This record gives sequence, structure tokens and C-alpha cells, in this order.
Amino acid sequence: MTLSDTNTVRIVPLGGLGEIGLNLMVIECDRDAIVIDAGVMFAADRETGGARLRPDLRYLEQRGLNVRAIFLTHGHEDHIGALPYLLQSFPAPIFATPVTAAFVRRTLAAAAFEADLRMLVPRAPIAAGPFTVEALRVTHSTPDAVALAVRTPAGTIVHSGDFKIDPSPVDGMPFDAEGFAQLGAEGVALLLSDSTNAERDGHSGAESSLKPLMSEVVRRARGKCVLTAFSSHLHRIRQFTEAAHEVGRYVVPLGRRMAESVRLGVETGQLNFPPGTFISPQEADFIESRRLAMLAGGSQGEPLSALSRLAAGTHPVAQVGTDDLIVLSSRFIPGNERAIQTVINQLFKRGAEVLYDGVATVHVSGHAYREELAELIRLVRPRCFVPIHGEYRHLVHHQRVARAAGMAEADCFLLENGEPLLLTRGGARKGRKVPAGRCLAEELQAAAAGALEEYRDSEMAPTVFAIVGISGGDGRIVNGPDLVIRGMSERSAGDLGRARAELRTRLQALNGYLRFDPARIRAEMTRALRAYFLRDGRRPVIVPYVLEV
Ligand SMILES: [Zn+2]
Repeated sequence: MTLSDTNTVRIVPLGGLGEIGLNLMVIECDRDAIVIDAGVMFAADRETGGARLRPDLRYLEQRGLNVRAIFLTHGHEDHIGALPYLLQSFPAPIFATPVTAAFVRRTLAAAAFEADLRMLVPRAPIAAGPFTVEALRVTHSTPDAVALAVRTPAGTIVHSGDFKIDPSPVDGMPFDAEGFAQLGAEGVALLLSDSTNAERDGHSGAESSLKPLMSEVVRRARGKCVLTAFSSHLHRIRQFTEAAHEVGRYVVPLGRRMAESVRLGVETGQLNFPPGTFISPQEADFIESRRLAMLAGGSQGEPLSALSRLAAGTHPVAQVGTDDLIVLSSRFIPGNERAIQTVINQLFKRGAEVLYDGVATVHVSGHAYREELAELIRLVRPRCFVPIHGEYRHLVHHQRVARAAGMAEADCFLLENGEPLLLTRGGARKGRKVPAGRCLAEELQAAAAGALEEYRDSEMAPTVFAIVGISGGDGRIVNGPDLVIRGMSERSAGDLGRARAELRTRLQALNGYLRFDPARIRAEMTRALRAYFLRDGRRPVIVPYVLEV
């Protein structure tokens, strides 16, 4: 071991650079390492409805690192969803703030995984091998988010996590500008900062600026009102609940995921309301519409979500009609526009009033705009800078922000996944590329089951869900095909192994001359399975999912 080994710190991004999601950063020195976040990402084809990708962890395994601890910045799935896979090989203690820990418990419980989960308290340093890690409070679209200051033999590294600088946070917990300024005064070797909104000028605005809209909605609706938002957005759920509570409406979370989030919010003190404020859909059955406010998932038009089912009139317990007011409180994520528009059209056809991005200010971003990005750079005054969390163009724009804030070009590094930065007391340079990429987050069967979690057999006609992972590059089958049946017994479905094998052969023949073409692959899956089941006189509904890997 040479002196330089123990003083060189390697920063290795294994996900989140060049893409939105899959965030995972390794910081290592000699043979010791810590991992910051371990996230998943939803597959490009939204019809996969819940199938997820995770970062390739081969590098960690091959390098034989001693992972001393895992630190989490916040509880979004693109930061914690890959924990079960990381823990399989590296069962290190996980440090997280209370709300993040609650989200982690849910993720791990779903994967039937136990973990050594420990409390992360802002401004209380934690030793992990050669590193000392301190959390600093930031504001974001989920509560209890932190940035991390990692003191290393090569100097202090600040990792922003996902952040914005909210001037009046809903939970009264401010962005710790003072803490960042103190670090800046001590000297920071490297800043790694969230680039999601680096294309946007100005300031992202305060989450609490949405409260007047919420108050207006709950007053204006003659029937019930429905808020559609991400279930982890407890600030927004809190503001909507406050508004509803003020005018005497009960709040009804629809769907399992939303109900879980509300329970988690109540347990962690984020949703502090009198008992009886939240009621179940069954209880709501006995209450008139004008006394109800509903929380629904599905702001991106996801086909199995509560909102899509309300719009289609297929929700098992709730209906939407004249006098009802629906707010889609989120941005349209590119690629989902068509699905969202279809849902909005259906809601209007049912006679409801709909507010959405474009006709009203219904959303405030949880990620810093350029003014806030520059503000963090000015507070921290880093010697070197690496933009993280974003597609390549976001990283480039963020680098420009850093340049405009006074950083020298030679001190800004554009990294991609698998490109290490080597940091010493003297400076930084890029290292040689290591293996990085995407894997399926779980067996396809489990992915499909997750997507279907709200379907119960009794509600369904006999249905066969078929799911296959195809390489976007060359059209090869990477995983599956797998079959999941609903609304019929294993026995009545016949020999699923043979059905799978036949389907695989058909797809291989197709992929021999096809590039990735989800529509054609889906059509072929439907044709092949329909023919297979028809041989025994069965006609289940065939639902094909194609996942680009
Ligand atoms: Zn986030």
C-alpha cells in the first residue's frame, strides 16, 4: 500500500449521471467505501406499469470493497428502490432520517428484507471507516431530505442529494444555508449537485404557494374534489388535507400505495390532523360528495392507477361525475403526455371539471432552478464541481451555471456512470472507466405482480399478463418472457411453461430481423398467446408488456 492509495479518494457514480433515476454514488478510499443512495428507475416504456430498472452493481462486487455504511439523502424510489439488491451483497448499516427510514422500511418489507437501519440526525457526524459523514437539511418534494458532507483524507465532499431552496417550507424545516456556508468557510474539495432543473432559469418557488389553489378547489367544488399527486409528496398531501379540513371535508386516500403513504405521514408526524380526518373509501360511501376530498395516484396517466380507473369508470369504490373537481398536481413527464391527455378527456366526458398543468398553476418543482443551483455553489465555494442527477444535457447546463458562478473550467468535471473521479489534496482528475449500466430491478414475474397489486382475482376476467425484457440496442431478449395469470387458477391456465417456451421461440424469430419495436413485439406476443390458449378452447384476455432494458 503506497501513501497515495490512502490519500486518494475515488468518487464512482454507478447511476444517475446521464439519466433521471437509478442514483447511486460510491465514495472509496483504499479498500473502504460508503454508498450514497441506491435508486431504481421506471422503464422507458410506460406500459410496463411498474417494472423497474436498477444500477449494475458488478463494479462493487469485483473490486471487493468493504462497504462501511449506506447513507440515504431522502425517501424517493429513485434513491432507495435498489436497496434490497445492494444489501444482498453488501449488508452494511443504513443511515437515514426518520421519514426516509419509514419509506425504506416499506421498500424493504415489500422485498421481505431485514436491514440494520440507523438514525441520521442533521449536523451530527457519523464515522464510517476513513470517512466522517454529516447530514445537512435541504428542502425537496418529500420531507426530511438531507445533503451530505463527507470528510475524507482528500478533503470534504458535499453531495447535495435532491434539493431546492424553499423560502417557506410547508413543514417549517428550512434549507440549512448556514451549515453549507460554514462548510464553505472550512473549505470544500468537491461539490456533487442535483442537475434535474439546470435548464430552468430563475427560482423554483415555494411549495406553500400552492395553498391558495388548494383552498379554492375545496371551496369551489360542488361535489367532491380529487387531488392527484405522487404519494410520497407529503407536503402537498398535507396542504390539500389542511384545505379540506378547514371546510369540513373528509380526506379519502384511494389505492394501497396512497393509503400507505398517508399512514406513514401520520406515523412520522408529517400529517398531524385530528383523528377522523382521513377515512377509508368504504366509510366515504355513506358521506355526501360535497363533504369529500380524495387523494389519488396516477398523475402520469398510469393505466392501473386510481385516477385512470376513476376516469374510465372502472374504480371499484369511487365514481367521478358532474360537480366533481379534479386537480392533476404534477408536471407531465415527457413520454406520458398522450396517456395523461386521454385521462383528462375521459374525466371531462364524465362531466367533471379538471385543472392541470397548462390551464392552472397546479405544481411547484422539488428541484432547484438555476438561481438556487448558483446559490448552493456560492455557499459551498468548492474547489471542484461535478453535476449529478440528470440527463447529459442537464449536466452540461449545470456546468455552465457553475462556470457563471465563477468556477474555472478545469475544475468542473462532466462524468458519466462508471467514470470515476480521483480526488487528492492536490486536485482531481478522471479515472479509467469501470463497469456500470442497468439491470432489471427484479425478476419479471415480481415486476408484473407489483404492477398488478391492486387487482384481485375476483374482480377480473381470466387474464394473462406477459412480460418480456428486450435490449433497446439490438432487440435481443434479455429477460423472460414471463407469464402472470389473474382471474383463473394455475390448473385451468394449463401448461404455462410450454406457453412461455413457445412465446420465446416466436419472439426470437421476430427479433432476428427487428430492431427494438415495442408495438410490434406486443402485437406478436398477443398473437402467439391467443393462438396457444385457443388450442384448448380458452380465450383469456392477453396483456403484453415490453420492457426496454
Ligand atoms: Zn427526490
